Amino acid sequence: MNLILLGPPGSGKGTQAQMMIERYHVPQISTGDILRGAVKEKTPLGIEAKRYMDQGKLVPDEVVVGIVRDRLKVSDCNSGFILDGFPRTLPQAEALDSTLKEMERGIDHVVNIEMDKDELIKRLTGRRTCRRCGVMYHIIFDPPKKDGICDKCGGDLYQRDDDKEETIKARLQVYEKQTTPLIEYYRKRGALRSIDGMGEIKEIFQKIAKAIEL
Ligand code: AMP
Repeated sequence: MNLILLGPPGSGKGTQAQMMIERYHVPQISTGDILRGAVKEKTPLGIEAKRYMDQGKLVPDEVVVGIVRDRLKVSDCNSGFILDGFPRTLPQAEALDSTLKEMERGIDHVVNIEMDKDELIKRLTGRRTCRRCGVMYHIIFDPPKKDGICDKCGGDLYQRDDDKEETIKARLQVYEKQTTPLIEYYRKRGALRSIDGMGEIKEIFQKIAKAIEL
């Protein structure tokens, strides 16, 4: 199962990817997570990427393409992968195509999670992540039992720098302009499976499973 998860920031790609890992036993490749890891470690990649991420801008194509190319070659991707947050531009999609072609592989499904803009802003501003184990919460929709503390490991919850309202608006604009052309790109190819992202997490997962298990 070689799959791409497409959808605006806040549409629940990361959450759905977690559920898909459990069901399909393939790794999630999240360029956002990889970049945040590099920022935390203060590697040269992280230092460069942070400048873009803090402003809600995309990290240059050649940087993320290199990351994904290396990651796809790791043996755990042999039985499939879920790309979460990549590709985000046409040049990234084209680079992915040529990488997969070299590997004699292809994309089976592109799941496009659709969502209303006001809802996205509400979701993103309330999002909190555990600093220790990475589990995500939402102050309205999925609050932890104790304010600011992770239910699972007791770690501190924090708000991502790029989940502040101004940055969120910039990220949504970037999505509109640079990423939405990919919807057409994959539709033309017959790979697009559009899913309504409103509703219960489990319900959305059922819809995705139905679309990709056909
Ligand atoms: P995400 O967690 O997927 O929303 O990504 C957080 C941030 O990482 C984005 O706002 C971008 O700055 C950067 N990023 C993640 N994936 C990509 C990508 N495919 N291309 C460019 N920048 C990316």
